[in-house]
Amino acid sequence: MKLKRLLLSLVAMLAFAAPALADTPDRAPSDADTPAQNAQITASPDKQEIPMVQENIAIPFEQFSLENGLKVFLLQDNSLPIIAVNLWFDVGSKDETPGRTGFAHLFEHLMFMGTDKVPNIDLLLESGGGSNNASTREDVTNYYTVAPENMLETVLFIEADRFAHLADAMTQEKLDKQRDIVLNERRETYENQPYGKVWLDMPGMLYPASHPYGHPVIGSVEDIKAATLDNVIDFFNTYYVPANATLVVGGDFDKDKTRALVEKYFGVIPKKPKPAAVEIPQLDTPVTNRMTIEDENVQLPRLTLLFHSPAIMEKGDAELDILSNILCKGQNSRLINRLIYEKQLASNLSCGQMSGRASVFIVDAIPLPGVPLDTLEAEILSIFKEILADGITSDEFARTRNSIETAFVKQLQSIGTRADNFNSYYFYAHATDFPAGDLDRYRNATVDTLMKTVRDMFTDDARRAVITVIPKKNQEMP
Ligand SMILES: [Zn+2]
Repeated sequence: MKLKRLLLSLVAMLAFAAPALADTPDRAPSDADTPAQNAQITASPDKQEIPMVQENIAIPFEQFSLENGLKVFLLQDNSLPIIAVNLWFDVGSKDETPGRTGFAHLFEHLMFMGTDKVPNIDLLLESGGGSNNASTREDVTNYYTVAPENMLETVLFIEADRFAHLADAMTQEKLDKQRDIVLNERRETYENQPYGKVWLDMPGMLYPASHPYGHPVIGSVEDIKAATLDNVIDFFNTYYVPANATLVVGGDFDKDKTRALVEKYFGVIPKKPKPAAVEIPQLDTPVTNRMTIEDENVQLPRLTLLFHSPAIMEKGDAELDILSNILCKGQNSRLINRLIYEKQLASNLSCGQMSGRASVFIVDAIPLPGVPLDTLEAEILSIFKEILADGITSDEFARTRNSIETAFVKQLQSIGTRADNFNSYYFYAHATDFPAGDLDRYRNATVDTLMKTVRDMFTDDARRAVITVIPKKNQEMP
């Protein structure tokens, strides 16, 4: 069995690779994606000159809603014979109640268990050259498929069929099977993965247990084991309703025919009320400032600094993407230059703004053997102090912002990513001016707005949480 639907959420962000869009899916959409459409990058010789990206990156779309409340966007692009079908549900671990943690993710797995009409979704899809995946995060569960254009009707049928009929086809056997897979995923991705336990402890360190983000997306073993068939069907009936979903269809198709197909297959799903939105309180300080985890899977310790940060698409969110690159991207970035090259204290460094309806800014470092974690931590904090005292140079800022713009535009070349990012932008910003509106967040950032964010977040020591992972004691240090 392919291990494709690994849980995302925080784990997906371990690499902190994607600066621009915080809403990264767990696994990149299919390789069968497309080369460029109309975006061109031009190099600017003047470091002060900011937007390097041409303006013609608008993505034309058509929008409509079905009577049952499903919102639909068609992003037509006939440059390659490929289509993307991307469905977002406003349900994630934020919606889980005590005793039911891990439910949104478990349910995502069950969506691949087939229905009476399509008993094996993957087989049908892959036989035609398509591929699919899904991800579950705190805020959202999304399903995405990329396939040759001649599979459009099949893919729309598959998505609508499981949306309409999954609960009818659910059995104890299917639940038990996916429960085992999810428990195994929990072991492989978190419990037995080097440093993986950090992600299990981080939510409780940052948020009170009553907060919607106060438990890990993967859930507790106890809760996953306790899930019953009735729980699953209730969950489906509450959250998998058209008014709680948004469908984006992208790629090579005829708009009128596609609209008719969407109406035919998705229009039969009954109308039900949209579930109440969960409020996500914004916090400034963590519940616990310092924690040490002993890990039998590691030989080197690791240091993780955490800071509550502005919610996705709020003021400061784009600035923190820029800051993470100034700190941790490339040899000349501040932390990498100082800690890896100049002082040779660390073997590995990454930073990132993990954005959601509540966000966290993370700095992660592995020391070189023999370097105490205290030394590493003090050096990282000294760089924050330098930035607070001396600011960011306009060259440094311009260079970083340009590289983010370039990465932003580059990822739009993939129709699968474009469809997913469109959905993300609509989900979080309730706006359709993608990609221009999203890109403007970076274009409108300045050294001053960045420094304001830095001062807000890094001045007060009480805002910081620190997790250290140390090798379990009876092991030898390298
Ligand atoms: Zn999973």
